[in-house]
Amino acid sequence: MTFIGHSLVGASLAQATIPAGASWKQWVFIINLYVLVAFFPDLPFPGWGHFRYDFSHSLFVNLALIIPLTLLGCYYRSRKDFASYPLLLGAALAWLTHFPLDAMYNHGRGVAIYWPFSEAALNLPLPWFATLDMSQPLTSAYNARVFLVEALFYLPVLATAILARYLWLRRRRPTGHAAGSSGHSR
Ligand SMILES: [Zn+2]
Repeated sequence: MTFIGHSLVGASLAQATIPAGASWKQWVFIINLYVLVAFFPDLPFPGWGHFRYDFSHSLFVNLALIIPLTLLGCYYRSRKDFASYPLLLGAALAWLTHFPLDAMYNHGRGVAIYWPFSEAALNLPLPWFATLDMSQPLTSAYNARVFLVEALFYLPVLATAILARYLWLRRRRPTGHAAGSSGHSR
């Protein structure tokens, strides 16, 4: 999946874990964090990303990063008022969504997520998800179509997540507007 698909799924997951009282700054930070981790295996670090597709898309390599980072976050959570457990677990889940999403490409080769232990691939092809053609500009008609298809598929997922969050926030809002503050800062 391209950045479009990964980031929309990351942003969708964030809707479920952003604390109810989060400020706009926290909201933006968490969305960006989730988008970043959802895209992490593709980041163009030296020796990472598409330069080392086997290594960067190995479930075991990624778990070796995800588990210590999540445990570290949980440790800080237990000691200080840092993040929340759902937020931390959601970030780990956002990271893990990268693999099923990449497995959805219609080329049918899947992703060899079991490297280095097995050559087997996770393969969940859907006919409308094509890979980018990097021999063409990203703005070419072909690549624009790839982006558009992902946007059309995942934007409703994000819209549903935002709606679900809105309804959840409405339900947990205390009844009785006259009692106390006007609630502008909520
Ligand atoms: Zn990838």
